[in-house]
Amino acid sequence: MALLTASAIAFAQSSAPVLNLYSARHYQTDEALYSDFTRQTGIRVNRIEAGDEALLERIRTEGAQSPADVLLLVDASRLWRAQIDGLFQPVRSKILDARIPAHLRGKDDGKGAEWYGISTRARVMVYNRTKVRPEEVRTYEDLANPSLKGKVCSRSGTSPYMLSLIGAMSEHLGEAGAEQWARGVVANFARTPRGGDTDQIKAVASGECGVALTNTYYLVRMMRSAAPADKEAVSRIAMVWPNQQTWGTHMNISGGGVLKHAPHREAAVRFLEYLASDSAQAYLAEGNNEWPVVASAVQRNPALDALGPFKADTLGVAQVGRSQITASRIIDRVGWR
Ligand code: FE
Repeated sequence: MALLTASAIAFAQSSAPVLNLYSARHYQTDEALYSDFTRQTGIRVNRIEAGDEALLERIRTEGAQSPADVLLLVDASRLWRAQIDGLFQPVRSKILDARIPAHLRGKDDGKGAEWYGISTRARVMVYNRTKVRPEEVRTYEDLANPSLKGKVCSRSGTSPYMLSLIGAMSEHLGEAGAEQWARGVVANFARTPRGGDTDQIKAVASGECGVALTNTYYLVRMMRSAAPADKEAVSRIAMVWPNQQTWGTHMNISGGGVLKHAPHREAAVRFLEYLASDSAQAYLAEGNNEWPVVASAVQRNPALDALGPFKADTLGVAQVGRSQITASRIIDRVGWR
């Protein structure tokens, strides 16, 4: 498989125009997105999909010889990691400037942003209707309340989704406040952290956990599922938009940037601009149940709409990404492993 992909890219280099994409987005629906880009621009997309860590390692190893033009990752903490490793180059584009809100762009020191959000997801709470009352779980801070002792489930604090949330908590509460909060959450654990977001939702539905955190698209995927087990699980749980009276629900992004050694820089910028187009934004939102980052883009996803309107935290993703340093310290000290 790796050999095939490598030879495909080698071949592609000899026949322009082409774009080499490394993507940690693992959603089948993205396929349509890439073929649409090719239809519009004539630029063929060679794609390597792998886990974020594997892709980052590969780009580091390839160094200046890397054929990769664009890197797509999920979560601001991962994009920030790629940024401080020096993997991106700044991009200045009138289209991206106009369409992608400033708080959804990575580091920008005047030469352009090094990475851009292309879709957003919210980190919400789900609770078991028979084990937890809605008034007990209105905020992230509530997860540390002694009334939830033995009822909170979480994935490992080392997961990028958790690092970003805990980092955001440290931006709002200060490091000491966030550490105290995290200590309270750990004291409430129903079990040792394990599994991904979908596992947390299922454990809440089964009653093993009273409440847990999940990215919205995992929940919506389950809500849209026709499988009887998923329908059953969804009937037992309820979702909360946390912190509606204060700073709003924690938001994260999937996003990408142009790599420092991109052989096809122009195509790479065009690709990012394409991802910011109304049609690509709709694809991204509908395919993986996320929200567009571009205000004018219209998504038609009834399951997403069914979640209702909410107040989103406007903390910048560059700040969220950076805050993972503090978050890592906190999870070490409180044992959120
Ligand atoms: Fe995910």
